[in-house]
Amino acid sequence: MSALLISGNDVAAAAKDRIRNEVEALAAQGRALGLATLLVGDDPASRQYVGYKHRDAQSVGISSIDVRLPDSATQDEVFAAIDELNERDDVTGMIVQLPLPEGLDDEAAVERVLPRKDADGLHPLNLGRLVLGMDGPLPATPSGIMAMLDHYKIETAGKVAVVVGRSFLVGRPMALMLGAKGRDATVIQAHSRTADLASICRQADILIAAVGRPEMFDASFVKPGAVVIDVGTNRTENGLVGDVAFDEVSQIASAISPVPGGVGPMTRASLLTNTVYLGTLT
Ligand code: NDP
Repeated sequence: MSALLISGNDVAAAAKDRIRNEVEALAAQGRALGLATLLVGDDPASRQYVGYKHRDAQSVGISSIDVRLPDSATQDEVFAAIDELNERDDVTGMIVQLPLPEGLDDEAAVERVLPRKDADGLHPLNLGRLVLGMDGPLPATPSGIMAMLDHYKIETAGKVAVVVGRSFLVGRPMALMLGAKGRDATVIQAHSRTADLASICRQADILIAAVGRPEMFDASFVKPGAVVIDVGTNRTENGLVGDVAFDEVSQIASAISPVPGGVGPMTRASLLTNTVYLGTLT
């Protein structure tokens, strides 16, 4: 491997040290932070992610509140659980674990969360603030990626960034952040209908792979010297793998994030950053 390894674990550990101090400072002012999660159903991966979020919150001094509903929950029951958390004074931030089970509406649930408690930064009002360049909680995965790029001093201004994926969770806000004033990348947003994806990707100085297909991005998608960020988390017989064929791409990229140990820990650190930010609003 010749590429620099972009370690989300290392950057997240540094972020947590900073966050722990911020939480202490807020506590000294009488502001206690509480992060609630709402998990609907029994998906093992979602259960695991929620477990990590509680462990992370507690490790920086944020109390955590774990609310669960069965698979059979209706949309109204999901709304009622969110309403209750919206009203609780000890809940200063909340996360609805996505995706919700079949038949439930992810976007409607996210919209039900009070914008000032939206630790995921996904409420339409907060996404609107992002579009307008206003302060607000930021979508956790793309803001974690920006923090990783900053940590490793990877320049975005004037670079061509190709973001593959256009979900409201990852791809769209990622493209907005990279192209924002002050970040100044020239962004190409690709998706499943993009023609000749490999040649589009080969234009990238910074390639963000957020598709959800194991090892789809092999060396033929990567310009030599590019920075490659792998968002994909795919559970396979060989364990957790990303969207990028790490072994071959790491031979030609200048820097690459691994899976696991890349974007995942940074997403969780961003949730804590958002929780602190929201705690300063209340
Ligand atoms: P979605 O399924 O919502 O979106 C996937 C995107 O990929 C869509 O925009 C889709 O295009 C596009 N796509 C699908 N197939 C292709 C293809 N063959 N070529 C080009 N584009 C394609 O997924 P998410 O955005 O929620 O997540 C993407 C991946 O990132 C998943 O593996 C997920 O598990 C992971 N993830 C990881 C996180 C972390 O913290 N590490 C956090 C969040 C997600 P179209 O819009 O046309 O359908």
